[in-house]
Amino acid sequence: MKYQVLKSSIIISLLVVFCLIILPLTIISLFHHEEEPQQPLLKKGTIDAPEYINVYRHSSGITESIKFEDYVAGVVAGEMPSSFEMEALKAQAVAARTYSLSKIIRSGDGGNPAHPSAPVCDDIHCQVYRDPLELSKIKSAEWMNTEWPKILSAVNSTKGQLMYYQEELVEQPLFHSSSGGKTENSEDVFVSAVPYLRSVDSEFESSAPHQNEQVEIPLSEFIKKIKRNYSGLDTKAVNKNTIKVLERSSGGRVASLQVGNLTFRGREIREIFGLRSANFTVSVQGNTVLITTNGYGHGVGMSQWGANGMAQAGYNYIDILKHYYTGIEVYY
Ligand SMILES: [Zn+2]
Repeated sequence: MKYQVLKSSIIISLLVVFCLIILPLTIISLFHHEEEPQQPLLKKGTIDAPEYINVYRHSSGITESIKFEDYVAGVVAGEMPSSFEMEALKAQAVAARTYSLSKIIRSGDGGNPAHPSAPVCDDIHCQVYRDPLELSKIKSAEWMNTEWPKILSAVNSTKGQLMYYQEELVEQPLFHSSSGGKTENSEDVFVSAVPYLRSVDSEFESSAPHQNEQVEIPLSEFIKKIKRNYSGLDTKAVNKNTIKVLERSSGGRVASLQVGNLTFRGREIREIFGLRSANFTVSVQGNTVLITTNGYGHGVGMSQWGANGMAQAGYNYIDILKHYYTGIEVYY
């Protein structure tokens, strides 16, 4: 009888433990698991970043030795709005770190031909870099208190992480502000076909600025500006029927455009008229040339606004990098 009571009290105790502790813990862990973005365990890569990097400062003409990870943080601050999502900032940190290291490796013992004392400089020639002192002057005390720690956190949480393609360090992790909906194959914008710089959809850019921006240029000025750069232009051959897009790239940018007796690449027209993008339409109305551009930048590699949109939609930084850089892996 005593044994029976003991047995049932053990069963009751076990039931209580199950209902009050094990069951709630299981439920919590199930939901917790769903809430956390999946962060894949990273493999160890073959290359380690150095502790310091030499940076040529354009304003002072001095080459500074800067802690490598501090430099990466200054590049993220210089290249991406700090208001962007954490996962987008982390993607930018990995891209900036990879680019910087590839510049060091390519420069060997020397520097860059444009600044022989250092493999990188601090402006758009390489990547925009701002140190904390500069940031405190350009931004505000509030920015330093709230935004700068966000950037440091994005860099610290991806410390040492780099992009590889087929076990080799990625050399050209290019990026741009926004693509207008689709990125470009590298060979359609630059010279060479890079296997990880392929045209992909960039579907989360709806909040990006510079969508459908219209530029109006008087026809006479349009002709004059082209003639200044390309003297072979027969001005008499230019009219509303001979200004037209002939071909588009797979990312939607103008591959070739006729102006009178000449044919141009969209990129050339973008340069002449300082357009935000080579993703444009063109028409002539009366004596005015109307150009409507979409997106901002060359359109190759990661779209920063697209990365921010992906982060808002719940993707993590590795998803973002793998989306915009075809076939890459992230290793630490
Ligand atoms: Zn440079």
